[in-house]
Amino acid sequence: MRSIHYYQPDSIKEACDLLGTLGDTAGVLAGGTDVVVRLNKDKSPYQTLVNIKQLTELSYIRVQEDGIAIGALTKLKQIAEDKQIQTAFPAFSDAVHSIGTNQIRNLGTLGGNLCNASPCADSVCPLIVLGARFTLTDGSETREVAAEDFFTGPGKTVKRQNELLTQVFLPFAPEGTRQAFRKLGPRRAADIAIINMAAAIVADADGQIQDARIAFGSVAPTAIRARSTEQFLIGKRCGEIDLEAAGRSAAAEVRPITDVRASLEYRRKMADILSQELLESLTQTR
Ligand SMILES: Cc1cc2nc3c(=O)[nH]c(=O)nc-3n(C[C@H](O)[C@H](O)[C@H](O)COP(=O)(O)OP(=O)(O)OC[C@H]3O[C@@H](n4cnc5c(N)ncnc54)[C@H](O)[C@@H]3O)c2cc1C
Repeated sequence: MRSIHYYQPDSIKEACDLLGTLGDTAGVLAGGTDVVVRLNKDKSPYQTLVNIKQLTELSYIRVQEDGIAIGALTKLKQIAEDKQIQTAFPAFSDAVHSIGTNQIRNLGTLGGNLCNASPCADSVCPLIVLGARFTLTDGSETREVAAEDFFTGPGKTVKRQNELLTQVFLPFAPEGTRQAFRKLGPRRAADIAIINMAAAIVADADGQIQDARIAFGSVAPTAIRARSTEQFLIGKRCGEIDLEAAGRSAAAEVRPITDVRASLEYRRKMADILSQELLESLTQTR
């Protein structure tokens, strides 16, 4: 492991100024479960780390009138165990619970999972289908970005070098929303996903689907929406859906590659099977 420079700013503004001045060889250290692993393997792009762990004002879960706001530095464990998040956003809660092990969730933060921008990061698909909004700041100005627009490629986001992700806001879902998350990994626990997905479906009192949002991870350079499959579902009645056709539609929409964890063909097949299984669980009753 090579030596690196290290800063520990006392404020968000100081952290942003440091990141801007030092340039793109400087990176943030939050929980360190991605950054430090890469440093240990000599695969880190960073020569300097700006530790933000002491910025405790970025660690919170706040229930507001219209949704729940989560500070970027909030530990995954705290999120996974939060009862209000479990109740309002079970798809997101399940996804966070599936990340790594207890030890990883004890160290890792939500902001780190998102800014690392891995195509297989588990928190991403639920945040996309639930319409989450991210807040970024350069220490002076803040801006909001929809979860769906945040990621631009593997390891890449719209976040500027002098910005921190400070908050994730999840708006309460409309009445009648059914939501779920699924993940397929090489082993049962503590594994990076071969494929993951989340869906949120809004059905009226008769079980007719008014809106559908489906997202897949680990099957394209960023998480993607399955828009044709969403359109296939809208207007149909829960309990009367051709699940095999929905699965075929989803498999046709993903753009997987072959890598060390799975082949392209396997991922496509699993997109079909996982979609059928998840959509059945959401739509079997009216
Ligand atoms: C054994 C193991 C198992 C794992 N299993 C999973 C898994 O199942 N699913 C999964 O999705 N991930 C998994 N991971 C990856 C990792 O644990 C998560 O991505 C974690 O959430 C990263 O958070 P962190 O706080 O540790 O980020 P760090 O490592 O500190 O940072 C990650 C990246 O984000 C940037 N960053 C962090 N916070 C901010 C911020 N607030 N603003 C701007 N930039 C920021 C850093 O500069 C860095 O580039 C695993 C990792 C390990 C080692």
